[in-house]
Amino acid sequence: MHKDDILKELEAIVPKEIIKIDEPLKRYTYTETGGQADYYLSPTKNEHVQSIVHYAYTNDIPVTYLGNGSNIIIREGGIRGIVISLLSLDYIDVSDDAIISGSGAAIIDVSRTARDHALTGLEFACGIPGSIGGAVFMNAGAYGGEVKDCIDYALCVNDKGELITLTNNDLELDYRNSIVQKEHLVVLEAAFTLMPGNKQDIQEKMDDLTERRESKQPLEYPSCGSVFQRPPGHFAGKLIQDAELQGHRIGGVEVSKKHAGFMVNVDNGSATDYEDLIHYVQKVVQEKFDVELHREVRIIGEHPNDN
Ligand SMILES: Cc1cc2nc3c(=O)[nH]c(=O)nc-3n(C[C@H](O)[C@H](O)[C@H](O)COP(=O)(O)OP(=O)(O)OC[C@H]3O[C@@H](n4cnc5c(N)ncnc54)[C@H](O)[C@@H]3O)c2cc1C
Repeated sequence: MHKDDILKELEAIVPKEIIKIDEPLKRYTYTETGGQADYYLSPTKNEHVQSIVHYAYTNDIPVTYLGNGSNIIIREGGIRGIVISLLSLDYIDVSDDAIISGSGAAIIDVSRTARDHALTGLEFACGIPGSIGGAVFMNAGAYGGEVKDCIDYALCVNDKGELITLTNNDLELDYRNSIVQKEHLVVLEAAFTLMPGNKQDIQEKMDDLTERRESKQPLEYPSCGSVFQRPPGHFAGKLIQDAELQGHRIGGVEVSKKHAGFMVNVDNGSATDYEDLIHYVQKVVQEKFDVELHREVRIIGEHPNDN
């Protein structure tokens, strides 16, 4: 179908203010990489997401979901089809010991809201820079806590545009994995069940975790957090450090000197620089220690020379 026809049809099903054409994605990713999206839509209502997904399904147009862009590298060739940013679905509602939030709310804000209501269980998330949707997709976790410990259910949309509610069990949450990834679902909303706690104790725990994070992570540079998953019996950062790869640079991206598990964009680096550095680190670690490093960060989009 012609680009203008798709635009007209999209404008017939959702408000035209939420549609952007040929939108540069670099501005939406923590790594500051990425080409253009053909159609970039930021729905403000759950029904919009359903309509767009259903439209894409019936017209065989690929759809990509974007949260806060903190665990993603988008290639310079950009993304064909429709990119849906969930960030405008950012409501946070509290009742008794439960918090229900839109998938675009920052998990840091949900964690702070829990603290403000003296609810404990989400302190682990106080420094994770993702959205609720991205956190469910990844089963985000830190310092011994993870989404799986406190999520009650998630409201999702399948690839046909149908609403489905998945309980904690249905979500198949595992180390940096979930059914949302496996079945290409989109999360619209998540509910968390927390425990009554003491506001001061919660704040103290959050302060401690923030201090640990700030002292160990290169938060002053663009990055995507830990690039690799934890290999069984090892720590990715320790292996990379022992392989003396800290400071190794390809193009504008280097293995952080502060935290070997991070790769930082120090000088206008590209997604290609990231990919090349990731492959290089995987190769060296495999050769030196016979350990395979699997990526935690998602890499999507087309290579610059694909077209
Ligand atoms: C400095 C830094 C520190 C970090 N620390 C941690 C940490 O301690 N623990 C941890 O687990 N992670 C950490 N991360 C990684 C990242 O913040 C998490 O993985 C987070 O959950 C990603 O959420 P996001 O909204 O940014 O997702 P994005 O990066 O936007 O997307 C990641 C994936 O989720 C999918 N996605 C996003 N939203 C939705 C949705 N609503 N429905 C369906 N799919 C969706 C995307 O398609 C993509 O495949 C860190 C990252 C940085 C930059």
